[in-house]
Amino acid sequence: MKTPHHPDLGASLRDSRSGLRDSHRRSLMRLLFIATGSALLVFACLQLISGVYWLAGLELLASGVLLAGTRRIDRTPHLQWWIYSYLVALFSFFLMIMLVPDASVAAFVWVLMMPVLAYLLLGKREGLWLSLPFMTAGGISYYLYLGTVGDARIMIDLLNMVLCGVLMLVFIHLYENRREEAEEKLVTIAQTDALTGLGNRGSFQAILNRTLAECRRSRTGFALVLMDIDYFKQVNDTLGHEAGDQVLRHIGDCLTERLRATDSVGRLGGEEFGLILRDVHGDDAFELIDELRECIAGSELSYGASTVRITASFGIACWPADGATVDDLFRAADHCLYRGKHSGRNTVARPGSPVVHNSALAG
Ligand code: GH3
Ligand code: MG
Ligand code: MG
Repeated sequence: MKTPHHPDLGASLRDSRSGLRDSHRRSLMRLLFIATGSALLVFACLQLISGVYWLAGLELLASGVLLAGTRRIDRTPHLQWWIYSYLVALFSFFLMIMLVPDASVAAFVWVLMMPVLAYLLLGKREGLWLSLPFMTAGGISYYLYLGTVGDARIMIDLLNMVLCGVLMLVFIHLYENRREEAEEKLVTIAQTDALTGLGNRGSFQAILNRTLAECRRSRTGFALVLMDIDYFKQVNDTLGHEAGDQVLRHIGDCLTERLRATDSVGRLGGEEFGLILRDVHGDDAFELIDELRECIAGSELSYGASTVRITASFGIACWPADGATVDDLFRAADHCLYRGKHSGRNTVARPGSPVVHNSALAG
């Protein structure tokens, strides 16, 4: 069975440090490079016509750098550095066109664009720290541009600009706060099994992919364990679906209590669970899982007047001995699990070793 690709939603959100994932930030940066590069080309021509040659030269140079940068932005490992360089250069350029003699009053509208770009590309915290000083400088430039503030009409112009800028910043900040909270909630819901509160199949597979990549780098072993509750259908058939659900929650609690903080557990579907044991080799994994098997088999769950006793079977596959890829490990662990089922259930099995079980409790 080929394992489907599951994106690591939480990790990609943390890595990007902004509301957008890195791939979207690259697309947006490419678009901005093309838009600002082309706009600067037009402005450079207009400056040439107006005879402001030094500014035309500067704009031509910046336009060339931006248009050439559209190819690099897709591949660069230093995306954050590129974003900062671009935003600082762009905001400084906005300030410059506000400060040049005979600046157009329309140049000051760009102050309102600063928080939009900074929040989108850098996220809430870094976006605020970058836009705040540039917006303040823009406000001061506008104050200097207006001249005599004693005049009521000039005061109205200044207040309009300052109020609009402050409100823009506050609303973007509030919006970003709510958006971040909502996204975190959605990511948690998308990764969690609603019944047991454990990670679901998708998040388990994302953790497994990440574990494999990390263990390849650090050359430490880990084990993938698949677990299936024995005769679970009988619980549903005799005590009802609600009792079955309670058993699933109880098993989820047993697994999280017994495993170490570095290990991971997820519900893969139905009454099947997956475990990832970090930093273990074959024998340690086997011992740990056999203890877990005994613990589950020895525990009792009260449901109304009934007492439910549950057993489970486990299949272990260790990396790298039993498989080099996630698919190989799943196949090996699954094969062991069903070998254990066929030899009577309440078992622990791993490749190349006899199945260990406690037949007194099985069934
Ligand atoms: P085996 O020892 O061979 O694994 O037998 P089993 O009865 O555990 O396995 P089987 O595949 O025959 O039955 C699994 C049952 O799990 C059938 C299905 O109704 C039940 N099940 C799957 N998901 C849930 C759930 O979320 N809640 C409850 N209560 N039951 C579930
Ligand atoms: Mg089962
Ligand atoms: Mg099953």
